[in-house]
Amino acid sequence: MSHQTGNFGNLPPVEIVSQNRRTLAMRVTPAGIQVLIPCDLDANSLRVQDFIKTGLQKLQTSEVSQTSEVSAEDLKALVSTWSERIGVQIKRVQIRTMRNKWASCSTNGTLTLSTDLVQLPSDLVDYVICHELVHLRIPAHGKGFRALMGCYIPDWEARERRLARWAASSSQILHCIQKRQLQP
Ligand SMILES: [Zn+2]
Repeated sequence: MSHQTGNFGNLPPVEIVSQNRRTLAMRVTPAGIQVLIPCDLDANSLRVQDFIKTGLQKLQTSEVSQTSEVSAEDLKALVSTWSERIGVQIKRVQIRTMRNKWASCSTNGTLTLSTDLVQLPSDLVDYVICHELVHLRIPAHGKGFRALMGCYIPDWEARERRLARWAASSSQILHCIQKRQLQP
């Protein structure tokens, strides 16, 4: 099995994996986009390159059609709605440029949101905010965290996967300060 990362203009980086298989496949993983190709195909061949380009375009247009933009004020309103629902106290919300995070939440109750959130479909913004606020109750991504996420957003896992696609196209990741503290 061989790995290779390609860059296709302004499209997201893609990992190409050669496998003992007959067909081409594209899959979205939390780490980004993977393209699985048969061993006898050259990763640089036209067939593979076309497959990747078409696949990425499909991913992007399916997301774009679902976008409904959220303003900075909407973000703050969403934070108060969610903090009330989850029963946590947010002392301060700051919205600023973040290089590779969607959001982070510190244990002293400061929630930092990326200005890039306004480009996301609103249901993904809900997911990001809910995820960060649930961390104030459960710091790690264990069973309890997953159960609580499921109470508030039953389809949170599907949203997380969709967010990973956005992440792949904008090099953003959902980052959790608490997670880093617990698992250095
Ligand atoms: Zn987290």
